[in-house]
Amino acid sequence: MQIGTEVMVLETKVAIGDNVRRVCAVIASSAERAGRRPESIRLVAVSKTVSAEKIKCALEAGITCLGENRVQEALEKVSQLSGYRFEFHLIGILQKNKVNKVSAAFDWIETVETIELARKIEQSCERLGKVMSVLVEVNLGREETKSGVFEEELPELLGQMAPFDHLKIRGLMAIPPFFENPEDGRPYFRRLREIAERINHLRMLRVDLQELSMGMSHDYAIAIEEGATIVRVGTAIFGERLKV
Ligand SMILES: *Cc1c(COP(=O)(O)O)cnc(C)c1O
Repeated sequence: MQIGTEVMVLETKVAIGDNVRRVCAVIASSAERAGRRPESIRLVAVSKTVSAEKIKCALEAGITCLGENRVQEALEKVSQLSGYRFEFHLIGILQKNKVNKVSAAFDWIETVETIELARKIEQSCERLGKVMSVLVEVNLGREETKSGVFEEELPELLGQMAPFDHLKIRGLMAIPPFFENPEDGRPYFRRLREIAERINHLRMLRVDLQELSMGMSHDYAIAIEEGATIVRVGTAIFGERLKV
C-alpha cells in the first residue's frame, strides 16, 4: 500500500469513528430528554453503497448493527466481513425469489408488508431452523411511491402472521414523508407509536409490538423523542452517498 492510500484510510477511519461517537451522543441526549435509557435504542448503521473497508471502520468504532437495502449488494459485502460480528437488518424491498438467501444472511427483516412474503420467510426459516425478527412496514403518509401497509390493514396482517412459529413479530417500521424541517415529521413518528399502542391494547395472541424503527440521519433525534427504539442512520455515519 502506498503512503498516500494509508493516510486516506486513516483519515476515513478517524472520520467514521468521530461520526459514530457523535451519533451515539445525540442518541443519548435525545433519550434522556424523553426519559428513556440510551441503551434501549438500537443504532442500525445503514451501509448501503458503502465499501466493506469503511464498514469495518464503523464496526471497529463500536457499531453492532448494520442495515442494507439491496440484497445482492448486501450478500457480496457480508462475504468480505467474515470475522466481524454484527446484527444484520434488511431495510429494503424483499422480492420473494430472494427470501431464502435473505433468511440465511439476515437477523432482522424490517420490511414485511404482505402475508405472502411473511409466509415465505416462515417456510424458509423453518427449513433453516431459525427464528427471524420481523417488523411490519407501515406507509404512514399513504404515499404511492412508498412501501408498507396502511394502518387499517395492520390488524388483519398481524393476525395472519401471528401463528408463524419462525417469525418473531417485534414491531413496526416506517419511512415518513420527507420534510426539510425534521420537526415537521414529529406527528408521523408519534402516529406510529400510537398505532403500536392501539394494537397492543387489542391483546392479540403472539402480537406484542415493542420495537419502532423510525428516524434517519436528519431526524433520528426527533424520532427518539417520540419513541423510536431503532434508528437507521447512514449519511451521518458514512458521509454523503454517491447517487447511483
Ligand atoms: C438509506 C436508508 C436509511 C438511511 O438514510 P440516511 O438519510 O442516510 O441516514 C434509512 N432507512 C432506509 C429504509 C433507507 O433506505
